[in-house]
Amino acid sequence: MKKQKIEDDLKPKRGAIDLYAAQCAKCQKWRSIATKEEYEELRSTFTDDPFTCDRTPDLTCDDPTDLECDASRTWVIDKPNLPLTPAGFKRELILRADYSKLDAHYLTPTGKKVRCQGELVAFMEKHPEYQHLKLDDFNFTVPKVLEDTVPLEVRKKRAEKSAAKKEESDGKKKMSINS
Ligand SMILES: [Zn+2]
Repeated sequence: MKKQKIEDDLKPKRGAIDLYAAQCAKCQKWRSIATKEEYEELRSTFTDDPFTCDRTPDLTCDDPTDLECDASRTWVIDKPNLPLTPAGFKRELILRADYSKLDAHYLTPTGKKVRCQGELVAFMEKHPEYQHLKLDDFNFTVPKVLEDTVPLEVRKKRAEKSAAKKEESDGKKKMSINS
């Protein structure tokens, strides 16, 4: 479902997302979304309340597209309707160095990094002041990397790595036959 995409760039923090975009339900053009907060809000109600150009003041579907979803950047597609990040918390997504996938974590108001539901439960047990929050208020689902937009040099490196691995295992096989 090509509904929302976010872009990753190597600057300023490697693997961090630095641009947000949503696709208009009417004209299918991509529009950049100014802030992560705005983006998360859009995403949380995406199915019931689809994004359209005219939500932005002075913008209509007749205006040219803000950006193309092409390989000039690396794109990841988000799942719609993820819960809005609870107040005081921050939700962060980091792309792995080999571009294979993203990892999601929350930063709690106390500055603790929480990577999965188990860690979340432990955090809430330790901090009863956040026990009004439900586990459903958090979601560790990560967007999918659009393979076609992974930089060529990364894909090349990957291919070399798997070729080297294959050679190594072929070598091992040969050795065990010889011994
Ligand atoms: Zn539109």
